[in-house]
Amino acid sequence: MSAVPHALRLPSVDRALAAPAMQALAERYGQGALTDALRAEFDALRPKALAGQLTAEAIADDTLAAACERRLAARFAPRLVAVFNLTGTVLHTNLGRALLPDEAAQSVLRALTAPANLEFDLATGGRGDRDDLVDGLLRELTGAEAATVVNNNAAAVLLTLNALAARKEVIVSRGELVEIGGAFRIPDIMSRAGAKLVEVGTTNRTHAKDYAEAVTARTALLMKVHTSNYAVSGFTKTVSEAEVAAIAHERGLPLAVDLGSGTLVDMAQWGLPHEPTVRAVVAAGADLVTFSGDKLLGGPQAGLIVGHKDLIAKIKKNPLKRALRVGKLTLAALEPVLRLYLAPEHLAERLTTLRLFTRPREQMQAQAERLLPAVQQALGADFEASVAPMSSQIGSGALPVETLPSAGLRIAPREARRAGRRLARLEAALRGLPRPVIGRIADQSLWLDLRCLEAHDEAAFTAQLPALQAALAARP
Ligand SMILES: *Cc1c(COP(=O)(O)O)cnc(C)c1O
Repeated sequence: MSAVPHALRLPSVDRALAAPAMQALAERYGQGALTDALRAEFDALRPKALAGQLTAEAIADDTLAAACERRLAARFAPRLVAVFNLTGTVLHTNLGRALLPDEAAQSVLRALTAPANLEFDLATGGRGDRDDLVDGLLRELTGAEAATVVNNNAAAVLLTLNALAARKEVIVSRGELVEIGGAFRIPDIMSRAGAKLVEVGTTNRTHAKDYAEAVTARTALLMKVHTSNYAVSGFTKTVSEAEVAAIAHERGLPLAVDLGSGTLVDMAQWGLPHEPTVRAVVAAGADLVTFSGDKLLGGPQAGLIVGHKDLIAKIKKNPLKRALRVGKLTLAALEPVLRLYLAPEHLAERLTTLRLFTRPREQMQAQAERLLPAVQQALGADFEASVAPMSSQIGSGALPVETLPSAGLRIAPREARRAGRRLARLEAALRGLPRPVIGRIADQSLWLDLRCLEAHDEAAFTAQLPALQAALAARP
């Protein structure tokens, strides 16, 4: 006889699934997913079963059902969740860039749940062109003759180069061969588009004659790229859009300008740093301008191309256009955003991104003072929170050097010993909240810039503070 008392064994899958608590889970998550979860749970319990260490409690119906429910809840939890962006970077590429105004959200919801005239001409009953939904607005807002929309600005540049310059040369200043985060480099896009890059000038200085002398019979296009994510200062010289346009046009060639952020209105009117508008670049003679939908424009991810109607027609006929075109959700979101620009005097209040850019420092300051006691209480004795001035950034490469005066909460460990680890733990606890809070670590502190915490979201933020307190109290 064995010395071990009669060991408990795992029940059969079928027997375990027959329990009423399991039936409820099958109803909610589906029989297949439940069976997978139960098998995974049995796999986890098997070493104990083999070692004769299973308790009756471990294989009770309710225990097994609870374990399956945990596994199913984790598997069915959405991976894309809303977060609080307290990084101070308003257009944070990793956090989804522009937040859309309510009009756009409602429009997307309608397009999601009801058929829409995406490519259907309601006037004639014939086939329509999806670009027509925004073409008129884009023409009006930029002064260009025609417009088209693709997946993002990288796609807009790729398509433009392929449609206009395949197997031909494109002249670009060395100082404008930018790399944007996420592997977008002008030279790479150029070769993928089948165009040959001809670099002119030097990193810091390019002159008009550099462009003029580089033109050959193989030149298809002159191109300017907005150096959106860095600044060259000191002994520098660039050639304006108007000058390059003149050089191109004298030789019967077009000028394409990749504006990157491409704003539709002069931001300086709200005290923000000046960025060239699409309209100004079109007026300066650019034949094509490409820009993003979700940077300064404040709309959905999209790449907009505006310009000369013959060139836009050529771009639209290119097979890549079909591959890079946008879906109805993008157009549903873009149209109401563009329409907001028809009334610029209301823009700073109605366009979410602009409202965030223009929030006055005093507002964040007052908010920080209001939130401080509750945040301090949640943090406990290990950390000290204080109200601090901060500098927000516009983000997404737009105006990298300029900052917006802001305010928020600076949180520092009270003890210098292992401060880095304490901060990392705090940061992880904030990330682990139901709606994760994303801040920024610098100078032995965690900084929560309140620019992007608008009043309507403040209650949702404070409602999570007890959960933060509990997470910090639990041992690591
Ligand atoms: C951001 C940017 C791009 C890429 O735009 P996406 O919309 O992110 O694809 C291209 N060119 C410039 C100059 C940019 O700033």
